Amino acid sequence: MPKPIPTAEPFRIKVVEPVKLTTREERAEKIAAAGFNLFGLKSTEVYIDLLTDSGTSAMSDNQWAGMMLGDEAYAGSKNYFNLERTVQEITGFRYMLPTHQGRAAENLLLYVMLAPGQFVPNNMHFDTTKAHVLHKGGIPRDFVVPEAYDPTSQYPFKGDMDVARLDAFLAEHANDVPLVMLTVTCNSGGGQPVSLKNIRAVSEVAKKYGKPFFIDACRFAENAYFIKQREPSYQAKTIAEIVAEMFSYADGCTMSSKKDALVNIGGFLAVNDHALYQAASGLGVLFEGFPTYGGLAGRDMEAMARGLREVLEEDYLAYRIGQVKYLGDKLLEYGVPIIEPVGGHAVYLDAKRFLPHIPQHHFPAQALGVELFVEGGVRGVEIGTNLAGRNPKTGEHDFPALEMLRLTIPRRVYTNRHMDVIAVACANVYERRAAVTGLRYTYEAPILRHFTARFERT
Ligand SMILES: *Cc1c(COP(=O)(O)O)cnc(C)c1O
Repeated sequence: MPKPIPTAEPFRIKVVEPVKLTTREERAEKIAAAGFNLFGLKSTEVYIDLLTDSGTSAMSDNQWAGMMLGDEAYAGSKNYFNLERTVQEITGFRYMLPTHQGRAAENLLLYVMLAPGQFVPNNMHFDTTKAHVLHKGGIPRDFVVPEAYDPTSQYPFKGDMDVARLDAFLAEHANDVPLVMLTVTCNSGGGQPVSLKNIRAVSEVAKKYGKPFFIDACRFAENAYFIKQREPSYQAKTIAEIVAEMFSYADGCTMSSKKDALVNIGGFLAVNDHALYQAASGLGVLFEGFPTYGGLAGRDMEAMARGLREVLEEDYLAYRIGQVKYLGDKLLEYGVPIIEPVGGHAVYLDAKRFLPHIPQHHFPAQALGVELFVEGGVRGVEIGTNLAGRNPKTGEHDFPALEMLRLTIPRRVYTNRHMDVIAVACANVYERRAAVTGLRYTYEAPILRHFTARFERT
């Protein structure tokens, strides 16, 4: 019997960037000097950097070639028009405003639409979205399905909005809700996808109450791949067709191009409503720059336009989602508790089950991140109490249901051999988990505290 031929990376490597493996003693010293905050490390002190998939993608030769075609005109750059055409073709939205990154698109959208005291429903707000809602005096509300909070539920679309709860909320508060948002894939919930059926249902509920519906589209292509895999009526559709249908139900989207546009910086706001576009582009001049560059160089917009097309290739997505699953499967094999099923851009270690002896106010997921770095030079990121911040009314920690260490896989950057290293490092920490201790703050900033917090061991 001939063996089935495995699939490997759908690219070959043209440029390499050396990474250095440090000793355990060096790493223990570096992380203590960084106040036990993984954001405080120098990237050269890290062997495998899984802090984020944001802006860390490797660009293709085609994107790099596009960089040489940068038209750096202040107004009306040809790269802007290419990007505009690309976004229109892929999303179907009429107007596109480039921004320096995703949070800038959120800033413009919420600046225009949100008044103090109003609510913003979302499946789960990402941290920058939540921070922008709060910054404008709004109140973020998460209505993700309850399965999202069960780390072992195999529900295929754990990013779905709980449509009944959204409907009930709008029935009561419609006058205080300026827009409905939906994050695909659901980053804060473990990179879990949202089904097309759910996107359609959310849009119907939003329509019922006359509310505009916006998609936080950072991982729109990864979400579409899951729809193709898991939603039976979409198996025969192309990724581009699924993406087009996803966006067809919405009035616009915010996008961080540092994710599924396969570039290192950039974002955009896309909308159908002309008045909204005008208001946002007027503010954009203040925060981002003239509407045909929005804080970006022409070359960046060209790379973004090309990346937005590449990300729709099914071979790429199969490799991308497959690599994340490869790591997840290895960890399960070693008995390491993770959020299942694994999401699109990251494997999330379940710190509550990994370190059950550390109470939530001693930051178990942060402590796990510290240990994994010391063990293997692998840098993850805490998605737990440290990230969640404090309730602005009570001043108490906003304890999240899940305490996770996110191992975020950059796009087209590491090989499966790197995944093997990560898995063994996690398994080793798991073996010595009883000896891991918690952390407490020695410094805490008032907003987005996770970036600069410093800790000591309890
Ligand atoms: C990254 C991200 C953002 C913010 O984008 P930036 O480019 O980092 O400003 C917003 N929402 C989600 C879901 C994200 O993952």
